[in-house]
Amino acid sequence: MIAGLVAVSPPTSAEAPHGAQQAPAEARPSAKTPTAIGKGGAVSTVDPEASAAALKVLKQGGNAVDAAVAAAATLGVTEPYSAGIGGGGYFVHYDAKSGKVSTIDGRETAPKKMPNDAFIDPATGKAYNFTPELVTSGVSVGTPGTAATWDRALKKWGTLSLADALKPAIKVATRGFKVDDTFREQTLDNEERFRAFKATKKLFLPKGDAPKVGSIFTNPELAATYTDIGERGIKKAFYQGPLAKLMVDVVRKPRTTKGTDLPVPKGYLSRSDLKDYKVLGQAPSKVSYRGYDVYGMAPSSSGGSTVGEALNILERTDFTGKTPVQVLHTYLEASALAFADRAKYVGDPRYVDVPLPQLLDDKFAAERACVIDPAKASVKPLAAGDVASYDGVCPPAPAAGGTEAEDTENISTTNLTVVDAAGNIVEYTLTIEQTGGSGMVVPGHGFLLNNELTDFSTVYDAADPNRIQPGKRPRSSMSPTIVLKDGKPFLALGSPGGSTIITTVLQMLVNRIDLGMTVQEAIAAPRTSPRNTATVSSEPEFITAYGAALAALGHQLVPAGDAFTSAAEIGAATAIELGPNGQLTAVSEPVRRGGGSARVVDPK
Ligand code: GLU
Repeated sequence: MIAGLVAVSPPTSAEAPHGAQQAPAEARPSAKTPTAIGKGGAVSTVDPEASAAALKVLKQGGNAVDAAVAAAATLGVTEPYSAGIGGGGYFVHYDAKSGKVSTIDGRETAPKKMPNDAFIDPATGKAYNFTPELVTSGVSVGTPGTAATWDRALKKWGTLSLADALKPAIKVATRGFKVDDTFREQTLDNEERFRAFKATKKLFLPKGDAPKVGSIFTNPELAATYTDIGERGIKKAFYQGPLAKLMVDVVRKPRTTKGTDLPVPKGYLSRSDLKDYKVLGQAPSKVSYRGYDVYGMAPSSSGGSTVGEALNILERTDFTGKTPVQVLHTYLEASALAFADRAKYVGDPRYVDVPLPQLLDDKFAAERACVIDPAKASVKPLAAGDVASYDGVCPPAPAAGGTEAEDTENISTTNLTVVDAAGNIVEYTLTIEQTGGSGMVVPGHGFLLNNELTDFSTVYDAADPNRIQPGKRPRSSMSPTIVLKDGKPFLALGSPGGSTIITTVLQMLVNRIDLGMTVQEAIAAPRTSPRNTATVSSEPEFITAYGAALAALGHQLVPAGDAFTSAAEIGAATAIELGPNGQLTAVSEPVRRGGGSARVVDPK
């Protein structure tokens, strides 16, 4: 334990071994429940422990924000490779009393001393490789925003103190959770780099191996860290003081093991970056789509702008009497168009001018929709539209082709949805970027640091809105979304999956609103991820169902899966639909990522 931390009740590393160990006889929620229908509050996450934590808070009278923080903190324990206090995220809140949607941008920021050429190796003058150099590095660690997000959300809308909201997570970290296939697989996928850091190896490869499926994994050091944050507050226990100093040390001088030959570039994080970190409260993005009001995350995420623009483009087509293939064709085209504009125009608005009103203008969408031929796929990549001059009238000749945008966003992250008895809603996506983040556990504290700054463009270009700039937030794709109908909440949804987050949320909305699926069907349906590339990465089941018909229109669908993951699946969404008479339908993935956990307070 680090000198200077106050004593805490959960066992410290000196008192109890961490990692996989024997199960004490105590109930551990592990059942996967893809759908739950009922009243009085609901939650959906990827993980039974996290959903149980939120449900307990709701049952004890806590509100959606209390429950969301409890679930998120628990995900930091049970899904430590996807999320935690070493990372950041975006929190969208619907307040039942005022009917207002607000957001918290808890995105990681670039250190103030991070130079534009941080991704060039000073030793060689050449760009670092993305893998392994940038992915496993200090240079990609951004100032974490998650602890500050929880603190802000609770202070603004919660009823619990941070200490109380963290209690369920502290309990899970102390008594341990059951290791499932996903946890073991994700550990094995990261084995080489986890072995490269002493603290990571000790925590996640406890006996030289990834924890076995069915064994119990405890993390007393994380329990102690959470306890300290709860007792002394985020400033003293996280953003300043010994833990802050330790994070800075680790980033600036990564603590590698002797045997590793992984190159691990040093980073720029400083104590003043941590001390000065602030979440941003900002207005949500908003579009109206076929009578629904769709609220999302404004930049620095590209989620709200890209989902919103694509919906506006889709709305130009009347789907009455159209076949599913025609609807999907339009979705493929609209999404590609919105991605072209995302690449050209979206970055952190504190650093670059983001034309959000134009991107979400129906007239702009009308002009973009001119590219869509109902009988034929356009040639990708498409060029961006011109936000400086448009009038909604189709130009005589289509714009010349564009370039494929670099896409280095990774498939990790986690998402959760909570509704309480009063009808307040939280949609929250949080991440440490790559599965396993930077690979660096903060010694003695049980959590991984993010590698979020890999979300900046790796090649510096002064015209690129997502170029590296000191203090800037890298562009995200996280798309926590809340949909109202006639001023009343209808649906909340979100997903992990890097840039496929946008298409997952968009396709689920199309499934639900345009293809008439139930929310259960909308989440389970096979996915395709049109991101303005020549070939469109798609789940094999999607190709089986629609491949031939869409190929006839000129779409080239290829199986999903990339250099980082062999999984041919896209996203791992959660959603809650709010029906008449207070009925809630909470849904999680039936299959993807091993299936999720949807729960309601009073099951039907
Ligand atoms: N870093 C990604 C983003 O901000 C999220 C990573 C993921 O979902 O895997 O959009």
